[in-house]
Amino acid sequence: MTEIIRINAESPEVEKLRVAADIIRAGGLVAFPTETVYGLGADATDAAAAKKIYAAKGRPSDNPLIIHIAAPEDAERYAHTCELYYSLARAFMPGPITVILPKKDTIPDSVTGGLDSVAVRCPSHPIASALISAAGVAIAAPSANLSGSPSPTEAQHVIADLSGRVDMIIDGGECDIGLESTIVKIDGDSLTLLRPGAVTYDALLCVCENVSIAPAVTEQLGENERPLSPGMKYRHYAPKAPLILLDGNDADIIAYMKRAQKTENCAIICYDEDANELSADRLITIGAKNDLNAQANALFGALRKVNSFDADVIYAHLPPKEGIGLALYNRMIRAAAHTIKKV
Ligand code: AMP
Ligand code: MG
Repeated sequence: MTEIIRINAESPEVEKLRVAADIIRAGGLVAFPTETVYGLGADATDAAAAKKIYAAKGRPSDNPLIIHIAAPEDAERYAHTCELYYSLARAFMPGPITVILPKKDTIPDSVTGGLDSVAVRCPSHPIASALISAAGVAIAAPSANLSGSPSPTEAQHVIADLSGRVDMIIDGGECDIGLESTIVKIDGDSLTLLRPGAVTYDALLCVCENVSIAPAVTEQLGENERPLSPGMKYRHYAPKAPLILLDGNDADIIAYMKRAQKTENCAIICYDEDANELSADRLITIGAKNDLNAQANALFGALRKVNSFDADVIYAHLPPKEGIGLALYNRMIRAAAHTIKKV
C-alpha cells in the first residue's frame, strides 16, 4: 500500500512531515519532491533500506545512490570533505549540485554500489530540506522513477511508476528545474563534471580553475569503456519509439519535420515558435527556442507524454551545449541512443 499525501511546498506542514520522517527512520521508502526531480528516499545509513530502493526501481545494484543532507557541514558524518567542497558549498548549496567525496564507514556499501566514494547533495526544496532534518539522518535518494524511464518532475509521474512499490509518495507540486543535479568529482584542486545540470560548467569555473568534462557527458562510450559515474552506462530516459535528434539550421529542421509529418508515422518535440508551421497532430512543444530553462523543465514530461502517441519515430532538435543546454544535450542524446541526423 502506498500512501499519497499532499504537502505545501512553500510552508510544509510539520505533522505530515513527521509521519514521512517516521517511515524513513523505520527503514521504509518515501518519494519526495526536490528542486531538480522527485527522489525516492530511504535512511542512507541503513543497508537494508537502501536495498529496497534498488528493488522498487528495478535499478542495477552497481549504480550508486546520492545521499541528501540538510546542511553542507552534515557531510562530515558521512564523507571526508576538503576546502574545495566548502567552496562549492558556499557557492551552490543548498541547490542542484552533487559532490563525490571519499566515503566514511557510516555509509554502507549497498548505497555506493561498492565504491569507496559517496555522492553528497544538499537540496534547496523546502519539503526535501525539512524531511531530511525531521529524519535526523542523511536520505539516500535516486530519482523516483522506474529504472530506464525519464526522471519524474511531478507527483503524477511518481504515482505512475512507483504506486504499490513504496510506502509513501509526497505530492509537493512540480519541480522547479526538471533535470537532475550537476554531479562533480573532486580530485585534489580539480573538478571533473560527471553529469551536467542547472549548476553550469561556467558557474563551476567561477569556483575552481580546473574543471574537466567527463567524456561520457557528450560522447558515446565504447563497449568496454567504464564511465567515471556508473549511471552513465545505463540506457536512460528512452521513449518507446526511437528518438532522432535533428542537427542543422532552423529552417532546414522545420522543413524536415514538415515533410516527416506527411510521410511518416512520427511524433515531434519542438520549440514553441515552430508550432504554427507544423501540424498539431502528435506535436509537443517544450518552450521557446531561447528559453533553455523552460525546455529543461519540460523535457522529461515530454518524453513521458510522447509514449502515448504510438508513433514509429520521434524527431526533436539537437540542443545547444551552452549553459544549461549541456544538461539538455546530455539527457537528449541518451534518450536518443546518440542518434543524430544532419539535415
Ligand atoms: P540518480 O540519483 O538516479 O539521478 O543517479 C545518481 C547518479 O549519481 C548516477 O549516475 C550515479 O552513477 C552517480 N553517482 C552516485 N554516486 C557516485 C559515486 N560515488 N561516484 C560516481 N558517480 C556516482
Ligand atoms: Mg535516475
